[in-house]
Amino acid sequence: MTRYYATRKVVGKVRPLAWVTSGAPVEILVGMGVATVYPENYGALVGAQRAAVPLAQIAEERGYSPDLCSYARCQIGSVIDSSQAPQGGLPAPDLLVACNNICGTVLKWYQALADELNVPLFLLDAPYQHETGLPDHAVQYVAAQLEELVDWVTRHTGRKMNDKKFARALDLSNQAVTLWREIRELCQARPSPLNAPDLFLSMAPIVVLRGSKDAVTYYRKLKAEVEERVAKGEGAILEERYRLLWDNIAIWYRLFRLFSLFTDAGACFVVDTYTNAWSASVDTEDPILGLAKTYSTVYINQSIQARTELMVDLVQRFGVDGMVFHSNRSCKPYSLGQYEMLETVSQRTGVPGLVLEADMCDSRLYADEPIKNRIQAFLDVLEMS
Ligand code: SF4
Repeated sequence: MTRYYATRKVVGKVRPLAWVTSGAPVEILVGMGVATVYPENYGALVGAQRAAVPLAQIAEERGYSPDLCSYARCQIGSVIDSSQAPQGGLPAPDLLVACNNICGTVLKWYQALADELNVPLFLLDAPYQHETGLPDHAVQYVAAQLEELVDWVTRHTGRKMNDKKFARALDLSNQAVTLWREIRELCQARPSPLNAPDLFLSMAPIVVLRGSKDAVTYYRKLKAEVEERVAKGEGAILEERYRLLWDNIAIWYRLFRLFSLFTDAGACFVVDTYTNAWSASVDTEDPILGLAKTYSTVYINQSIQARTELMVDLVQRFGVDGMVFHSNRSCKPYSLGQYEMLETVSQRTGVPGLVLEADMCDSRLYADEPIKNRIQAFLDVLEMS
């Protein structure tokens, strides 16, 4: 990751450079020789370094509402005043590519960036999946926009699609996604070889390096290490008494302090819905159609019913004893419906759940004592069940 950010900071070495959303079809850009950086990943990095609040305040002083996503606020803050931003902010982009398969916030966020930086913006519209099963007209609609994206990139950069590079990017992307899925599945073992914070720290390459060899190399090594742990019966925590599921984005500024409240009681998060979101491969028979399908069905672009089904499946397959939902003030599309999901999944599986209200980056919304008390009460419930 250090190399990833360092090479992109060297102006001229990686040009043209696009800022893209986490659910953007990056394989097309790789195939066209366009480098990418991810403002959301930068937001997570800033959150983990506890540098988000001062940057968010810069954006708020400019008039951005404190109710907006904290990734957006702190990244916009880093653009307005890079002197306070870790690594001096992101290297300036030549292009912006935003896909609304994760939320509507990114559309306004990227429009604000396009205005601030005077850079062309491509908006990819991936319709929300209200029903299970992706309708063909939605696939065709997104595929047509992907063809348009190729022409748009050529118009703005002079770069053309290189079919060989594109095929290789798809292949590498699929390899990395498959390895990541297999690593996560290995956590069905008892004890689980990884805890959620391990997954949160290991997920960066699947977000920002899809389509590269580096991601495949990294996940191959990780998988070998995790397999070895399973073979030796080595758990992620000292004594695994309870197996938990985590829902929503990590609380980056409290990653270890928060999770140690659980690990101290022998509770390990063996599975989560967040890192699960990068689990779908692309069908390469018709790559554009394959990309349209994969990027239209990312986790939070799906209905509450579909997400509930996925959660029931995870609870059952991973032998989960309890669920913890992070009600994330920043991420409305992820957090809306969590109470209903908790109720339904609990009824169907008999597994209890806890909701923690906080924010992934904005530590002003984290209250230590109430959270500790709620966790203790939840652990008592697990103890008694
Ligand atoms: S609102 Fe949620 S999905 Fe959208 S950018 Fe923020 S964290 Fe990501």
